[in-house]
Amino acid sequence: MSDCLFCKIARGEIPSKKVYEDELCYAFYDIDPQAPVHFLVIPKAHIASCGAIDAENAPVVAHIFQVISQVTKEMGVTDFRVVSNCGPQAGQSVPHLHFHVLSGRDMTWPPG
Ligand code: 5GP
Ligand code: ZN
Repeated sequence: MSDCLFCKIARGEIPSKKVYEDELCYAFYDIDPQAPVHFLVIPKAHIASCGAIDAENAPVVAHIFQVISQVTKEMGVTDFRVVSNCGPQAGQSVPHLHFHVLSGRDMTWPPG
């Protein structure tokens, strides 16, 4: 999508601090980190949110979780939280599917 912030980041049109990239997904540090480690993993193809995952685009989600497992291992991170907010009431502010990976501090439950 031409006017989507995370599509622009995935295309390199808006600068970001890259964590990982392949043909299907892009990972980059969050601009407003909520933990000592906080990066986002996005599909390069535009998917609006978790609510827009279907049988056709689901394989990229499995791939993203594999990437999260690989990247955290490479970082030496063993304990982490993966979050995807779906819809404004749940806290989604960017309408392009993204998975927050947070680590490096104690996490509380339930989330606020
Ligand atoms: P959400 O609120 O949709 O769950 O998560 C969106 C995340 O994107 C937020 O944590 C926010 O800090 C991050 N973010 C928003 N704009 C930018 C940006 O331009 N660059 C980076 N690196 N992160 C961004
Ligand atoms: Zn997008």
